[in-house]
Amino acid sequence: MAAYGGPVFDMAVKQFEVIADYLCIQQDARARLLMPKRAVTVSCPIHRDDGTTAVFEGYRVQHHLTLGPTKGGTRFAASVDLGEVAALAIWMSWKCALVGLPYGGAKGGINVEPSSLSKRELEALSRRYMQEMIPFVGPHTDVMAPDMGTNEQIMAWFMDTYSMYQGQTVTEIVTGKPVSAGGTLGRREATGRGVAHLVRRAADELKMRLSGATAVVQGFGNVGSIAALELHNMGVKVIAVSDHTGALYRPAGLDIPELVKYAGSRVSLDGYSNGLILDSAEMLTLPCDVLIPAAVERVIDAKIAGNLRCRILAEGANGPTTPEADRILEKRQREIFLIPDILCNSGGVVVSYFEWVQDLQRLFWEEEEVMRREYQLLDRAFERVLARSRRDKVFNRTGAMAIGVERVRDAKDTRGLFP
Ligand code: NAD
Repeated sequence: MAAYGGPVFDMAVKQFEVIADYLCIQQDARARLLMPKRAVTVSCPIHRDDGTTAVFEGYRVQHHLTLGPTKGGTRFAASVDLGEVAALAIWMSWKCALVGLPYGGAKGGINVEPSSLSKRELEALSRRYMQEMIPFVGPHTDVMAPDMGTNEQIMAWFMDTYSMYQGQTVTEIVTGKPVSAGGTLGRREATGRGVAHLVRRAADELKMRLSGATAVVQGFGNVGSIAALELHNMGVKVIAVSDHTGALYRPAGLDIPELVKYAGSRVSLDGYSNGLILDSAEMLTLPCDVLIPAAVERVIDAKIAGNLRCRILAEGANGPTTPEADRILEKRQREIFLIPDILCNSGGVVVSYFEWVQDLQRLFWEEEEVMRREYQLLDRAFERVLARSRRDKVFNRTGAMAIGVERVRDAKDTRGLFP
């Protein structure tokens, strides 16, 4: 399809082809499974603080409606384009199907560097984007959530804008909202907690003690910082962390609670300490027990894959590993245990699903209940992926994606061509 393109979309296509070959999916059934059902591009004009008008391009891609409404985050970043958003929507589909949620995948985004906007401009842009999306989304057609560059406040603005157009409060249009605006306890922490929980499961499989083990975390936003904090609380020494401003390294272990506070108040790690600075490019290949990429796509290419020195690779980010790197990691699977992205970061959409269910029912759960149910679904998916990969002697990514793709294929086969 000519509408989509770019390196991230190409990557989603290549990954799918590997799975389609493995599942022996016929050529004529492939496009129907892979290609998004709809995509919309919108222009979002806002008044800048200096009195000028600026227009930002926004997107939303809905991959399929076969299993229920679509579900997916909204990314605000300068890298966002239609191809990237489509790839992220496709990955969301395999992820939701893998963990057994009644959703298809979606994703949205605006091509904007959010730190270049004042708070008022950010609110204007968020509200305008949601207003443009009103004809295409709804609690039973497409439910939004946060992703890179967006947060609880932006979700609250989305929800409020949608609600004001409906003439009533519709909390279930968006997940990842503040608890004060209909959000669930445990959503903010859900993705990072899930990553750390699955690292513990992988360590158990490898009979590796986590207490005293070392970890490196790339990206110190929602996912990276919470995963680092959870691992720190399990006794892991987090020796390196990074964000878009640079990387910090301390072989004896960084003070993660202090770093979380620092990054929270200043929005980045910049200026934390001159003594701990490391070349960002070097951090991925540091010797460590656990490596967590939790920032952007395609950071592990073939060269880096050959040089990784970790025991567990836990993909907190979506699409951090290129297909070329996958071929190398597949050969190194006895050395490096991969927790593939669609499993590793699925705690976020699992708890988003819980938030949607609670909003629809107007019945809210305690945080312990949210966490218990999150870990239950993650454990089940982890066991399914391991069993499948071992049974068929395939790479963990192949096992995970095959389960997701198969579930969507089976539903499409029974329903017919429409959804
Ligand atoms: P975020 O905006 O909260 O944080 C992103 C972090 O990555 C920031 O610290 C930023 O400085 C850093 N970063 C950006 N470019 C970088 C680079 N080149 N090198 C190093 N660090 C860099 O975003 P997030 O919500 O934590 O999302 C991170 C990743 O996790 C994304 O791939 C996202 O799609 C994925 N994810 C997020 C969720 C969620 O619930 N937020 C759920 C599933 C997957």
